[in-house]
Amino acid sequence: MKRSNAEKIVLAIFLPAVVLIYVIKSYPEWITGLLGIADPFGDFFFLWGKKPNFWYQTVYTAVVVTICVKLLIGGKSPYGKPAGRKPLPRYQKSKFLSILLVQSIGFYFVPFVLPMFGLGWSDGATKNEIRIESQGNMVSLAKPVTYSPTQTKYALLVYLDDVLANADSFQVIDSEDSDSNSHQAIGIEFVQPLVPGTLVTVTAFHLAHKMAHVYLSPSFFSAGAMLYMFFFIPIFVWFFGKRYCSWICACGNLAETVGTTTWGSKWVKEGTPRGKISLQLEWIQNLMLILSLAIGFSAVLNAYHVIRPATHDRIWYVQDFLTDFMFGSIIGVGLYPFYGTRMWCRYGCPMARWMKWFGRFGKSTFAVVPNDKCRGVGLCTQACPMGIPVADYAHKDRKPIEIAFGLETTSCIGCGGCVAACPVDALSFQKIGAKTIIALEQPETVSD
Ligand code: SF4
Ligand code: SF4
Repeated sequence: MKRSNAEKIVLAIFLPAVVLIYVIKSYPEWITGLLGIADPFGDFFFLWGKKPNFWYQTVYTAVVVTICVKLLIGGKSPYGKPAGRKPLPRYQKSKFLSILLVQSIGFYFVPFVLPMFGLGWSDGATKNEIRIESQGNMVSLAKPVTYSPTQTKYALLVYLDDVLANADSFQVIDSEDSDSNSHQAIGIEFVQPLVPGTLVTVTAFHLAHKMAHVYLSPSFFSAGAMLYMFFFIPIFVWFFGKRYCSWICACGNLAETVGTTTWGSKWVKEGTPRGKISLQLEWIQNLMLILSLAIGFSAVLNAYHVIRPATHDRIWYVQDFLTDFMFGSIIGVGLYPFYGTRMWCRYGCPMARWMKWFGRFGKSTFAVVPNDKCRGVGLCTQACPMGIPVADYAHKDRKPIEIAFGLETTSCIGCGGCVAACPVDALSFQKIGAKTIIALEQPETVSD
């Protein structure tokens, strides 16, 4: 991949910066430990009373919103050849408007801005003295902990390892400032999966703290989240395919917008792994899904005292570290410039595999449909961030073959990049609910 000097300079700081940012966001105590600051809970990184996650989300949202506004105001399609770019198609306008609104309102304004005015949910900036009841004994933490369920959890583990190892169960019973949101969220996290009436808090918890609601395992923590994952998502997939990934998901919002910038589209075009082996390796995502479901089941087993809380917590820690931190964050974002913007979505995200399974076995009618105008130009394949050999479904030896494809054989997220990139309008999305003959196998030849 040819890179300008400016790009090389940016890249020299990009990966270390990504690692640093995600470490501060997820495990601030590592840095404070490294610096020798006696602050295992990351208070060091509280700027103006806001924790790292707040600042991270602020920058993240600013990047997404800026690119969306630029695209919507500029009105030019970011897909296809730069020369003579077409106007931004209606589909793309709707998509980027959706990303803009979902990111700025759903993932930022509601969980982070409203609480500043005493509305909505806690933004996690409170520092509570949390007391814990374990087998009837009160345990007070020596230090205040910040309300970040994940960090709190680890902090508690550090402090209470012995208690946990010897207890059947324990529960957060109070907090200094009686912040009921914090109280409930931590309570749910620890001992009360599937308690009715906790929907709002749990949803807020995920929106604010997990960045994107993409994991299956947290859905075992409440009836509402379970409904979302096991009912609404499958229905959504039946109608819209995996458009959730290109229109709504917080992780996808960054991938989708960065992938339209000058450098980003080059990363997608030249860096995205393509070809047979890269497609076969997508199988890894099944393992991530199985891991995610296993964590969910372990939460239920924990709730009914089949396994010890400490066991469940350690499994959760492993998943949080490997899946969320390493794969989803460091690799998922840090490798944008090298392997395109969708490595995590393609190989890691359990939610994506969940949707694919529903699409495949639930007979979703989502499909990309080639027509007889295809001339084998191949810009569609280059535009695809998911490494799908789009052109191979549309032509053979530059003669149209018109095999529609959906979720049976591909991981298509319905971003519409291929449709917009095609200079002869040879691709379109199938109308919602309509039926087309969809390829049940990948084309014989898959071009790299
Ligand atoms: S694959 Fe997962 S992370 Fe990526 S956009 Fe879809 S749901 Fe979000
Ligand atoms: S096949 Fe087209 S719509 Fe599907 S992910 Fe690739 S570029 Fe997007």
